Amino acid sequence: MKRGTACPCGWQHSAASPRATQALQLQEHVFWACTGASAIRRAIHHNLPVSVQLLPRHVWLLEQPCQTVRKGVWYVVCLAALTAMLRARGLMFSTLARTGVEPAVVETRAVHLFLAALKDFAACQGSVSSFSDLSQAHPFVYARPNASLAVSLQLPP
Ligand SMILES: [Zn+2]
Repeated sequence: MKRGTACPCGWQHSAASPRATQALQLQEHVFWACTGASAIRRAIHHNLPVSVQLLPRHVWLLEQPCQTVRKGVWYVVCLAALTAMLRARGLMFSTLARTGVEPAVVETRAVHLFLAALKDFAACQGSVSSFSDLSQAHPFVYARPNASLAVSLQLPP
């Protein structure tokens, strides 16, 4: 399987499309529709108000989907998600391609990569970060009483 033309999940770009369109199709697939990306999107959406519709521009262009999430936190969520989506795809091409691609395994690993990226961010923030005043009700991350950050990502059932 050649990267950029097909995916272990079964997706394949339209061979009849111009190359620029194929590139956009690949971007949309890797960072939105592929198995791991979908699982990460569901995890993000699960932590937003129910009325919020998560759109590609929210994640790709770092646009806040609502005021519930502080802008700086949303940036971190998006970058963690995009990184995890790309790494999940890499896993599908390497480890999982040898053993078979089980969608449930890909989904679980993708969400764990996303969670790990959020935890890395939280661990790197000192007590004087610009997030040290986040309430415990803030989605994704919050500040502990000592002002250090903790991840509060709620996973969908
Ligand atoms: Zn795929």
